[in-house]
Amino acid sequence: QTFIVIGAGILGASTAFHLAKSGAKVYLIDRNEPGQATDAAAGIICPWLTQRRNKAWYKLAKEGAKYYSTLIRLLEEDGETNTGYKKVGAISIHTDEMKLDKMEERAYKRKEDAPEIGEISRLSASSVKELFPPSADHFSAVHISGAARVNGRALRQSLVKAAQKNGAVIIQGNAELLFHDGKVQGAKVEGETYLADQIIVTAGAWANELLQPLGVNFLVSSQRGQIVHLRLTNTDTSNWPVIMPPNNQYILALEDGRIVIGTTHEDDKGFNRIVTAGGLHEIFDKALSIAPDLYDCEVVETRVGFRPFTPGFLPVIGPLPGFEGILVANGLGASGLTIGPYLGLELAKLALGKSVDIDLSLYDVDGAIE
Ligand code: FAD
Repeated sequence: QTFIVIGAGILGASTAFHLAKSGAKVYLIDRNEPGQATDAAAGIICPWLTQRRNKAWYKLAKEGAKYYSTLIRLLEEDGETNTGYKKVGAISIHTDEMKLDKMEERAYKRKEDAPEIGEISRLSASSVKELFPPSADHFSAVHISGAARVNGRALRQSLVKAAQKNGAVIIQGNAELLFHDGKVQGAKVEGETYLADQIIVTAGAWANELLQPLGVNFLVSSQRGQIVHLRLTNTDTSNWPVIMPPNNQYILALEDGRIVIGTTHEDDKGFNRIVTAGGLHEIFDKALSIAPDLYDCEVVETRVGFRPFTPGFLPVIGPLPGFEGILVANGLGASGLTIGPYLGLELAKLALGKSVDIDLSLYDVDGAIE
């Protein structure tokens, strides 16, 4: 069977990797959108402390976090070791001990069916400072040893390279769908025609533009995220845990002394990739109130990406209603680094006609179509 995957963010790259690994013929097409969400994202894999009550979302996030260990092993077997993933643990900090009690309770409850959460422990303010030296003096924390950080750019590149090693053909350029009489047959890229048994659309925040010629109004919206990279010199940051503060921001460290802080969640900004005064103000203000010792860090860069959201704030996956030969997945929102690799695995299984481990009725594509 031949497959075309349109969109090589984390979702499409994972789908193409798993399809290629199964021996299928795969074309992976991407037009290198500069606002690709995956490329801008560096984030946390730690879904277990969330207060979000949506069970369908939690199922994907939990399975997603768990699947990483298998995925990283598969990538390493294919010689991809620079995956940007590391299980450094996370500390969820607070000044209110009662809030931390609740959080700890929640973590133990979640551990019952998610042993991958690892060790759960309580940290005093001095232990927090030991693990994360720039932090202010007054935060205690709950520590989760199974949490990880991942650099979206590095992981995506590993997935694409591994897909290629397994036979996938990578094509750069803008894809348009080829269809006739309700059947999608292939894609056209820069004048070239590619035909396949199934077309898989993982085009993130830009999916509507691709599907519109079919007469489909696909309801995906984009949420802008600005995220800042700082550099701390002469410090080995490679094992620093991810910091989850009481606000909606986070701080994490990459290998090379880079500290990533952010992010903004800005709706209704279209696809405008500017870095804004207000965005930077929010990011710096929140980060420095948590970690004042980052004050003298060099500012290296700000990345901007567009998170794809569907109306239910829940991913969708499945055939495009009313058409043959086309599957769609989208709506990874703010947790796509966590969910993307696993959803890509499931999407590949769906495309291959294998049974999937998720209840597809919970993530019906109909919900994202007007
Ligand atoms: P994208 O990564 O946006 O990929 C879509 C791709 O489709 C693009 O590469 C584009 O070029 C391509 N495309 C579109 N149309 C066409 C076409 N017609 N032809 C060819 N190619 C096309 N998630 C977490 O779990 N934890 C985090 O801590 C976290 N932090 C984040 C921080 C920031 C700043 C941002 C922006 C996101 C963050 N996320 C996080 C969310 C996560 O990054 C996204 O949910 C995820 O990357 C979405 O992946 P995607 O593959 O669906 O879309």
